[in-house]
Amino acid sequence: MAIPSILVEEKTTEYTVEDVVCPFCGCCCDDLIVTVRDSRIVDVRNACALGASKFLHMNEGRLLKPKIGRFDTAKEVSVDEAIETVANLLKDSSYPLFYGWACTSCESILLGLDLADLLGGAIDNTSIICHGPTVLAGQELGLIAATLGQVKNRADLIVYWGCNPLEAHPRHLARYSVSARGRFIDGRRDRKVVVVDVRRTATARMADLFVEVKPGYDYELLSALKMLVKDLDLEVDEVGGVPVSEIEKLADMMVEARFGALFFGTGLTMSRGRDKNVEAAIELVRCLNFKTKFVLIPMRGHFNVTGANEVFTWRTGYPLSVDFSQGYPRYLPGETTAVDILRRGECDLFFVVASDPISHLPRRILEHLGNIPVVALDPKITPTVYLSDVAIPVAYTGIEVEGTAYRMDTVPLRLKKIVEPPQGILSDVEILGMILEKLRG
Ligand code: SF4
Repeated sequence: MAIPSILVEEKTTEYTVEDVVCPFCGCCCDDLIVTVRDSRIVDVRNACALGASKFLHMNEGRLLKPKIGRFDTAKEVSVDEAIETVANLLKDSSYPLFYGWACTSCESILLGLDLADLLGGAIDNTSIICHGPTVLAGQELGLIAATLGQVKNRADLIVYWGCNPLEAHPRHLARYSVSARGRFIDGRRDRKVVVVDVRRTATARMADLFVEVKPGYDYELLSALKMLVKDLDLEVDEVGGVPVSEIEKLADMMVEARFGALFFGTGLTMSRGRDKNVEAAIELVRCLNFKTKFVLIPMRGHFNVTGANEVFTWRTGYPLSVDFSQGYPRYLPGETTAVDILRRGECDLFFVVASDPISHLPRRILEHLGNIPVVALDPKITPTVYLSDVAIPVAYTGIEVEGTAYRMDTVPLRLKKIVEPPQGILSDVEILGMILEKLRG
């Protein structure tokens, strides 16, 4: 009798995770629905193209093994060997600089601060190249803020200044501001939208009013608006390339709003004036609050750059650029900022977590990295990983490991674990914990 062939039916495992927080931009949208089939993410609902792409393509260009050595001379090593090497480099270092922290969890950032404290080094986060001026201005004057939920439910005027959310924070408009349906506001028809920028961006094209300011003249324009809000006259024809009639129109819209929200981006914080621009925006909002309700919220970029400022502040009292070389935390922006330490060639080790400074920092500042050891923890192969002397792969925070992140309005949210990381890959919290243990041991 013939033996019947045995058909083995392969079982597929599929599950869906709801209310997932997107670990991409500062909107931290927390309504994603992620489907996993056979340990791979196959579908992401509710996310924008940027967020979905992170989930669906996270294994492309992945760093899978720790390496020691720069560029093409690098050789693969075990996690233990890499950690031992990093611990020895840190022991030999008299002034390490720890940098990054925008794309990882608050739990990881706390361990980075422990390391910098233990070793008498310096630590900084990427807000120095985006909203550091916002932090400085907030310390001077205070921020008149609100949650994104309040904006969604109440704001009838949205002003985007120096930012282009349609391309950088794609769901910001639909979820929290322009077309979001709130408790007291029925979406786009109940709202006016203004964009102030140096060029007509995609966001500007859908605004009710677009104000085109000359590059570098935001401070002047904000000051002119403040004068009009205070019922003073402008004895000029234009300010920052904007006719006074248009500034008056914007001032009227602001005063007539029942609840206005000013969102601002790096167009304001990283152009001429920087923290003074933000101070001018805060002063304008202060003046507006004598006549109506107005708030301002920074458009933070990476999903936990706000968390980096928060955790630095809980732990040291300072939001960025913290130096422990005297045995206690010191904060001198322009002195203890990562770019200044690198420019002066002071640090003797550069330790990067969840960031790619080689792609972002000025080339002249990075020249010092040719003389000192560079260590990187990252899930993928970046130019910084490629240049580093030791690189250790880590799991993706918010996809392969859980943690806490702060949304751009400083609301903390819990990031979920959706899938297992590739075999042998640990979280940065575990790696940093192991390094700390070796140094304390
Ligand atoms: S807007 Fe930002 S947080 Fe929301 S889904 Fe897109 S990338 Fe993710």
